[in-house]
Amino acid sequence: MSLPNGVRYVEFDGDERLATRGERVYGEPVVDGWRRWEPHRSKLGAILELGLETGLEEGVRALYLGAASGTTVSHVADVGGPTYAVEFAPRPVRDLLSVAERRPNLIPLLADARMPERYAHVVEADLDLLVQDVATRGQADVALSNRRFLARDGRLVLAIKARSEDVTAAPEEVFERSLDRLESGYEILETARLEPYHADHLAVVATPR
Ligand code: SAM
Repeated sequence: MSLPNGVRYVEFDGDERLATRGERVYGEPVVDGWRRWEPHRSKLGAILELGLETGLEEGVRALYLGAASGTTVSHVADVGGPTYAVEFAPRPVRDLLSVAERRPNLIPLLADARMPERYAHVVEADLDLLVQDVATRGQADVALSNRRFLARDGRLVLAIKARSEDVTAAPEEVFERSLDRLESGYEILETARLEPYHADHLAVVATPR
């Protein structure tokens, strides 16, 4: 499996684990400046662990939707260039702001990812990477409405949480519906279930049509 530049396996207590280089954020173990990236705590970490081609590379310009307190987006910012982090809940945004204080390339935005017009004046165009982990209904629609920020050859890396769409339907059914909807604006490149790291989640890597 090829890892992006800037992401490595580093030995922590005798085990090789994913890591990026940067300031500690959430109490994670650090060895020689390398912060452990725990796939059980991060959908993107799990996606990398499972070997999907995410498009995360050194210097990528990224938009991250559903940043919460910054656990995963801090790793993206360790690797990438300008990283716009959208989160709509004020409480985690307070933590996100302190993560951003030590990462000048991380730009936190208190905003609703369903309303990209509210942050379109801040986020630059033609981004390389759109990462989405919003636990909300209509996850495919969020990805479609934020497609405007991606370059033609940019990548969407989306984690779809089945239960956020429909608690009663079978996850496979929810994933099929979401993929059908996504295909109106994206070409799907890869999909993978996130077990054993995250139950009932589907990872999708796609590029704009
Ligand atoms: N991606 C984070 C990480 O790995 O560190 C965890 C994200 S958590 C599973 C989902 C987040 O999406 C929550 O913090 C929630 O407040 C946020 N969220 C849900 N709907 C949203 C929306 N419409 N706009 C922005 N954020 C949203």
